[in-house]
Amino acid sequence: MNRFEEFTTSIVQQIGKKEGPISPVMINSASFGYGDSETGEGIFEGSIKKPLYARVGNPTSAQLEQILASMDGGVGAVSASTGMGAIAMATLSLLKSGDEIISIGGLFGGTYAYFSETLSRFGIVTKFFDVDELEKVEEAITPATKIIFLESVGNPNMRLPDIAKIAQISNRHSIALMVDNTTTPLSIAPLKFGADIVVYSTTKIITGNASALGGAVVYRAIAEGDDKFKSERYRDIHPFINKMGSIALIAVAKKRALRDLGMSSNGFGSYLTMLGLETLPLRLDRIVTTVETVAKTLYAKGFNVNHPCLEHHPHHKRYLDQFSNGCGTILTLDMGSKERAFEFLNRSKLITITANIGDSRTLGLHMGSTIYRDFDDETKVFLGITPGLIRISIGLESAEAIIDDFINASKI
Ligand SMILES: *Cc1c(COP(=O)(O)O)cnc(C)c1O
Repeated sequence: MNRFEEFTTSIVQQIGKKEGPISPVMINSASFGYGDSETGEGIFEGSIKKPLYARVGNPTSAQLEQILASMDGGVGAVSASTGMGAIAMATLSLLKSGDEIISIGGLFGGTYAYFSETLSRFGIVTKFFDVDELEKVEEAITPATKIIFLESVGNPNMRLPDIAKIAQISNRHSIALMVDNTTTPLSIAPLKFGADIVVYSTTKIITGNASALGGAVVYRAIAEGDDKFKSERYRDIHPFINKMGSIALIAVAKKRALRDLGMSSNGFGSYLTMLGLETLPLRLDRIVTTVETVAKTLYAKGFNVNHPCLEHHPHHKRYLDQFSNGCGTILTLDMGSKERAFEFLNRSKLITITANIGDSRTLGLHMGSTIYRDFDDETKVFLGITPGLIRISIGLESAEAIIDDFINASKI
């Protein structure tokens, strides 16, 4: 059974209860009564599993977290207010001043800015590499390296990392591998490739209709015997491992990120996210097929299309070997110049021009004048941002309608 088929059953079964409300129960209370002081003490101590205060956990979000963890085979998940909140939570709960991140491939503009501009102000250095510079990656590892970070699909450069091979490197050096799987939920299960932590912006294809911002971090269980998090490199979290065992990474995220930094999700957002999540396998299954049809047809018609399903793409073989359920909703078109890109987007009747991806509708955006406008030329080259580059996120429309519209929009 492919993963879309498998999860089409398990996700809807996990959301709807057999008795009582079938739509997820939305609890949006900021605080919760304990009843008596002894219960209050037990909740704070951890011996009683009841809601403490919504900044550190909300029952509706807890249901969402369970489903996301099951999708990736994680021991649990922690939801966040946004995808950037999830990335901040996952990184800041492990890092301190003087630590280093190795970032491979990608990279989403917000994440690039967070690593290079914000974390650097706190003495955390990020070294950036292309997906095929794995020898340089190994040379760059030092005792201060705490995280190897990658995006499952380069957005918008469409370069694919060899996740299995990078996981081997991270395991060989006992360094946490964190994968941003926003564009490929279900399609890719990073923990199965050997990653330790998966981050999501649920704002994108998981919710799928622009109704809610959200994010989540999925963690693997800490092993009973040997585990990379028990090495000296991660001594800061050993007290959590000693106390919480397999779920230590969740406890670290809740204490250090939710409690202290407050990038918490809310009940209404998690409710909307679950309504979208119910149909994720169906939507993504359809869209990854449409993406291939659109990419191949437009390429044959002379468009400058970038997608790894095309045979000449440098990662075509990797696409076939490791991305058998597709690589998400994105393809890019290089129209040659900013003027031609603007003309194409303005003439299209179908594209919604916006800085989002993974929607029910086909979305498009000129990269150089928007998300990457403030980046210097060298960074743009590294991230694959050319003057005529348009990022397209394919939606639920028919492949034929999309292809017809793109061809009409490109005629001058
Ligand atoms: C959108 C996005 C994010 C950030 O998510 P928000 O919910 O907008 O904060 C992070 N990573 C990737 C790959 C994204 O596409």
